[in-house]
Amino acid sequence: MKPSLPQGGQCLFCRIVKKEIPGKIVYEDEEAIAFEDINPQAPVHLLIVPKSHIAGLADVKPEEIGTLAHLFSLVPKLAGKSGILEEGFRTVVNSGASAGQTVFHLHIHLLGGRAFRWPPG
Ligand code: AMP
Ligand code: ZN
Repeated sequence: MKPSLPQGGQCLFCRIVKKEIPGKIVYEDEEAIAFEDINPQAPVHLLIVPKSHIAGLADVKPEEIGTLAHLFSLVPKLAGKSGILEEGFRTVVNSGASAGQTVFHLHIHLLGGRAFRWPPG
């Protein structure tokens, strides 16, 4: 069986959830947390993260769909709070190494405050 956490349970975002590592937290509820990306790619760059460890979009179990829905429900809320709801924003979920996922704890990138190109690189 695939382990649910990396070796030693040292998942970076689990540690931010547990406040073992500091994060610039902008929102928190029972199921989710949102904090500023440490290496922002836009004037607004938040990460919306489930408190429970889910490695990525490919690992979401049927019983976790509600959590996923909750994370996405926070997108317009946090976009509004960040002042980017009207002008537009981008949400990204990198899934797997070739897509650029580097932290294997599910997260939605919420980016805004500048224009974005399409297609993405
Ligand atoms: P991804 O490459 O899609 O897995 O996104 C991981 C994101 O986590 C990157 O944008 C990193 O800049 C960000 N990141 C890594 N470490 C931290 C940290 N300690 N606090 C906040 N964001 C982080
Ligand atoms: Zn984790």
